[in-house]
Amino acid sequence: MIKENLLTVKKNIYEAAKKRQPDMDESVKLIAVTKNHSVEEMQEAIDAGAQYIGENRVQEAMEKYALLNRNVKWHLIGHLQTNKVKHAVKIFNFIESVDSIKLADIIDKEAAKINKLQNILVQVNLVKETSKTGIYLEDLQPLLQDIDRLKHLKLGGLMFIAPNLDDLEKVRPMFKRMYKLFKEVQQMHFSNADIKYLSMGMTHDYKIAIEEGANIVRVGTAIFGPRQY
Ligand SMILES: *Cc1c(COP(=O)(O)O)cnc(C)c1O
Repeated sequence: MIKENLLTVKKNIYEAAKKRQPDMDESVKLIAVTKNHSVEEMQEAIDAGAQYIGENRVQEAMEKYALLNRNVKWHLIGHLQTNKVKHAVKIFNFIESVDSIKLADIIDKEAAKINKLQNILVQVNLVKETSKTGIYLEDLQPLLQDIDRLKHLKLGGLMFIAPNLDDLEKVRPMFKRMYKLFKEVQQMHFSNADIKYLSMGMTHDYKIAIEEGANIVRVGTAIFGPRQY
């Protein structure tokens, strides 16, 4: 089923992208979120065409990384503990969940040790959900400026996890706000950044996230089915 599901998600992405404003990106990267799914399921998805893998825990990613035996790009989408950073920089092409200067500093130091330019996104907590990580809007600009000084980090854009609401039309204005913010950040002056990505949208809301300008979506359940915890 994984192959069929992947094709369906890709078709939905294509359809949603047709509804976008002309100033928005044409392409959308699909991150196949494989947390709590097996290495075999990951291989099946990759062999069916998945190019990007999303994991939310470093420990789980390390175990799978050792076994996967596939050429694929890894995105860290979950909160990163500072004591896991040295492992994370070895695996992940993108760390999407940077939300403090303290964390950014440690990633920079560990990336320097292995001579890597680490791609990151900054996670925004737009509506101040206390259950979620991410930086509050009023603290975003100073964080971005601090990050710009770190030579082993490359800031690529913003990441957002929407509240899990049944009424998606309540979520849509948040995606619109994130797209506006993304455009504002693109206008800021950086020496070290290339603001290209807006990562938002999961199984239940990726279609409207794309309509509102997401160019990375992180989809697990629609590809792999429900997770067993
Ligand atoms: C688990 C997870 C996803 C994927 O969620 P689904 O609802 O299974 O598509 C996306 N983003 C983040 C940050 C996640 O933790």
